[in-house]
Amino acid sequence: MEDSDVERTDIQESNEGEDEELIEVCPVCGSPDLYYETGGIEGLYHCKYCGYIGGFVIDANKKMMGLIRDEYERKLRISE
Ligand SMILES: [Zn+2]
Repeated sequence: MEDSDVERTDIQESNEGEDEELIEVCPVCGSPDLYYETGGIEGLYHCKYCGYIGGFVIDANKKMMGLIRDEYERKLRISE
């Protein structure tokens, strides 16, 4: 059954470039620099980078994180 070896190689190649590791990042600026504050009914995430406060964060891989941050920095440049 040498064919199964070939298939396994295909699976590895399709995973290439996609980071399996997901990080919780800020939905506004893409920063992973969040802290979770408990207390009250629900905890809230605070972003140290842009000051976002909310219960929603994005599970992103490094590529997505970069895209969100690029978008955020572009908006900053427009508003100035
Ligand atoms: Zn942020």
